[in-house]
Amino acid sequence: MIEELDPFKNAQKQLDEAAKIMGLDPDAHALLREPMSILQVQIPVKMDNGRTKAFTGFRVHYNDARGPTKGGIRFHPAENLSTVKALAAWMTWKTSLADIPYGGAKGGVICDPKALSPGEMERLSRGYVRAIGEYIGPEIDIPAPDVYTTPQIMAWMMDEYSRLAGFNEFGVITGKPLEIGGSLGRGDATAKGGMFVLREAAKKLKIDMKKATVAIQGYGNAGEFTHKLVEEMFGSKVVAVSDSKGGIYSKDGLDFKKVKAHKEKTGNVKGFKGAKNITNAELLELPVDVLIPAALENQITSKNAKNVKAKILLELANGPTTPDADPILLKNNVFDVPDFLSNSGGVIVSYFEWVQNIGGLYWDIDEVYNRLDKKISTSFWEMVSTMEKYKTSPRMAAYILAVERVAKAMKTRGWY
Ligand code: NAD
Repeated sequence: MIEELDPFKNAQKQLDEAAKIMGLDPDAHALLREPMSILQVQIPVKMDNGRTKAFTGFRVHYNDARGPTKGGIRFHPAENLSTVKALAAWMTWKTSLADIPYGGAKGGVICDPKALSPGEMERLSRGYVRAIGEYIGPEIDIPAPDVYTTPQIMAWMMDEYSRLAGFNEFGVITGKPLEIGGSLGRGDATAKGGMFVLREAAKKLKIDMKKATVAIQGYGNAGEFTHKLVEEMFGSKVVAVSDSKGGIYSKDGLDFKKVKAHKEKTGNVKGFKGAKNITNAELLELPVDVLIPAALENQITSKNAKNVKAKILLELANGPTTPDADPILLKNNVFDVPDFLSNSGGVIVSYFEWVQNIGGLYWDIDEVYNRLDKKISTSFWEMVSTMEKYKTSPRMAAYILAVERVAKAMKTRGWY
C-alpha cells in the first residue's frame, strides 16, 4: 500500500476514524468532510525590476458553526490547496478543542519569501489582503501568522484592510506587533502553550522533566522559542535542534543563547562548535525522552515511526505525523500529543488578542500566561479522560472532543 502524503486526504482519514469511534451522525460527518468555501486569488505584484509577477493565493473557510473562522497565512514555495484545506480543517478541531468561540480557516500564498525584497514582500502582503478583503473581517474570518509570515506582515495586512474599510480595524488579524494592538505573550505563545502541555504530559507519564532529554526539529518561531523555554521552565537538556539545512547534536546539551547567536551569525544551526552535524531524519530517531517536531508536515511516517525512541512526541508543527505512523507509535508506547492540542497556544493567545482589540482593554503578561495555562491544561486533561472513556489514542480522543462540539453547534443551529 502506498502511504498517503496528501495532507487533506489525511485530515479526512483522521476525521473518518474519529467519526467511526464516536458514532457521529452521517449527515454531520458529510458536512465536516469538506470545507464550507474556498477562495483562490491572483495577486499581481510590481517587482523591483519593474516587471509584474502574478502570485497565487488561497483562503479556505472550513467550518464556522462555533463562530468566525480563524487560521494563519503561510508564504511558502510549495504551498498548495490540499495543504491549506487540511490546515483549515485542523484549525476547526483546534479552536473547538481549546473551546474558544471560533471556527477554522487557513490561507497561503505560493512564493519564496527568501527571494523577495522587503518592498516586494510588503506589496505582496497588501495585494493578498486586497484580493481576499471581502472574505475576512473580525466577525467573519481572522487571519494570523504561520510559516514564513511575521508580525510585520500582519501589520501591513491590518493596515491595508483598515484602508479598505475606512477605519482602524485591529481585530481583523492577530499576531500583530504590540504597538498596533498585539497581545503580550503572542510571540512565544505556541511554544509556551506547548510547554504547559508538555508539563502535564510528563506528569501523566511520571517523567521528571529536569532530567529529561529533548530534540527539536525546526528553528523558527515555534522551534526556537521551544529551545529557550525548555531550558527556562524545566532545566531539561536540549540535545538536538535543526532547521531546513540540517541539525546538530550534543549529548551534553545545546545552550540556547549560544545556538541562537550562531544561527544569527551564519543563518543556520549547522556547524555549531562542539556539536555533531546530523540530518533532520537522524534527529527524529534519537534516543531522547521528548521529541518535538516544529517544522513541516509528514516528518514521521510508516517508514520511520518504528525508529522513534522518544516517550513523548509533542507535535508543535501541524501534521508532522501521518495517519499510517499513528498505530506504530501507539504500539511502541510513544505518547503522541496531537498537533491541534500541542500547538494550540498560538491560537488561544490570538483569541486573547482579538478579545483585547474588541474590548479595548489590554492585559499584562501574567494574565495572558495564566489564562493560557488554564485553557490548554484543561484541554489536555479533557483529552486524557476521553482517551480513557473510548480506550483510544490521544489524537483520536482530541478529535472526538473537538468534532463532538462542532457537530453539537451545527445541530443546534439546525444545519442537520
Ligand atoms: P517558521 O517559518 O518560523 O519556521 C519554520 C522552521 O522550519 C525554520 O527554522 C525552517 O528552517 C525549518 N524548516 C523548514 N523546512 C524544513 C525541513 N524540511 N526540515 C527541517 N526544518 C525545516 O515557522 P513556525 O511558525 O515556527 O511554524 C513551524 C510549524 O509550527 C508549522 O507546522 C506551523 O504550522 C506550526 N505552528 C506555528 C504556530 C505559530 O504561532 N508560529 C502556531 C501553530 C502551529
